[in-house]
Amino acid sequence: MDVRVRYAPSPTGLQHIGGIRTALFNYFFARANGGKFILRVEDTDRERYSDESLEDLYSTLDWLGIKWDEGPVVGGPYGPYIQSERFDIYREYAQRLVDEGKAYYCFCSPERLEEVRKQQAESKSEYQGYDRHCAHLSDSEIKEYLSQGIKPVIRFRVPTEGKTTFHDIIMGDITRRNRDISPDPVILKSDGFPTYHLANVIDDHLMHITHIMRAQEWIPSGPLHVLLYQAFGWEVPQYCHLPMVMGKDGQKLSKRHGSTAVRDFRAKGYLPEAILNYVTLVGWSLDGSTEFFSREDLEKRFTMEGIHKSPAVFDYKKLDWFNGQYIRACGNDRLASLVTPYLEEAGFIHTPPTADEEKLVEDIVPPVKERMKTLSDVVPLTAFLFRDEPVTDRSVYIAKGADEAAAAKALIRGSEILISGLRNGTDEKSIEESLSSLAAELGIKVNGVFQPIRVAITASTVSLPLFDSIRLLGLDRTEERLRRAIKLFKEN
Ligand code: GLU
Ligand code: ZN
Repeated sequence: MDVRVRYAPSPTGLQHIGGIRTALFNYFFARANGGKFILRVEDTDRERYSDESLEDLYSTLDWLGIKWDEGPVVGGPYGPYIQSERFDIYREYAQRLVDEGKAYYCFCSPERLEEVRKQQAESKSEYQGYDRHCAHLSDSEIKEYLSQGIKPVIRFRVPTEGKTTFHDIIMGDITRRNRDISPDPVILKSDGFPTYHLANVIDDHLMHITHIMRAQEWIPSGPLHVLLYQAFGWEVPQYCHLPMVMGKDGQKLSKRHGSTAVRDFRAKGYLPEAILNYVTLVGWSLDGSTEFFSREDLEKRFTMEGIHKSPAVFDYKKLDWFNGQYIRACGNDRLASLVTPYLEEAGFIHTPPTADEEKLVEDIVPPVKERMKTLSDVVPLTAFLFRDEPVTDRSVYIAKGADEAAAAKALIRGSEILISGLRNGTDEKSIEESLSSLAAELGIKVNGVFQPIRVAITASTVSLPLFDSIRLLGLDRTEERLRRAIKLFKEN
């Protein structure tokens, strides 16, 4: 069997972590099995549709390097792949079910349906949902309604007896009593628009989808879909519902946990390879231990067996860690071009950068590379090179366990060691040793000497390694900033 899978998002919001996890699993499963990955846009809900979400879908997949074999833009033999362009198809198939008595016209007004709903709620009736009022209209009744110009919806006849079972590769057999399935759901609305269930089933069939890999929250729709396949006389694809994506607190991942839109991660400076790698590990593993996978690896090695059954946790810290690893693995030239927009955005350099600025960015890359978790970290880490905003609060200079007098001495004598050492070409290691001896002499920890110096030079307690900072800033500016800090401590 030739594997054919699809990612079928609704363009009603930005692509989020859970969505692209589904896309990645489908894509890798297709690639690893020599199959086809299809992109289908499920835009039947025109009220929630937005152009922006569609753009975001394309640009996000593009950024991740995920190419679809069939779908919008690229086309394919079973198109169109945008549901709003397929409405004739859905109408035709819905009518076919009506003709065969498997679906029927319903002329109930919204007011009547609301009344039914109210009564059910008041009587606390066990029976919820449509009361099948129009399930057995005669031909003449139907004609009568139609002649009055009332536009019917089409409802699917769900059996009231028996059970429906479908097999899920991950979850096993899932069985539901037919009477627990929503009674006779609308499959075609009165304006001729299909509902999700109808369009989804028809398209998966017509597009020859072999495996349906989608989020577990779609399991409740499974039995109804199976009944629809049976009504059409079609083979049911294989189901493979993916584990839920949770936050660390065990709740479904949502904005409460932090950003979930891929676009936000991208803006903050996560690399596509880090997102792709980590997100694929949310609910999947190859052997329980391998952590690093490139897209090319996963295109070969992804297996359905590796998908977990239990909910998976999306851990922001772990993603940061992966991102840091990928940043360090990044070539310096690529990293320079990746951090440039952040420096431009911060107003540190021109857009486009001048030749001098380009050179500076090149120099910045090796030290910042070791300290960045995300690309946007380049801004706070290098701000001291572009902005001279001295810290005037003395307490910031004073390390834990030191006091003002010690910090002042550390600054005065430390500056002397540092500047004369560097001017005389003393090696960094010896200078560091001298600074450590100074700390011992002053009876404070090593950081008691380094912190005031660091704050004086970089206006921050977290920064690049000291000698890198000095090299980037230049000795003259370094000396000037140290002097200024010493002055601050001499004031009363
Ligand atoms: N359009 C549905 C969604 O947005 C697709 C569900 C499915 O994959 O069947 O999730
Ligand atoms: Zn009705």
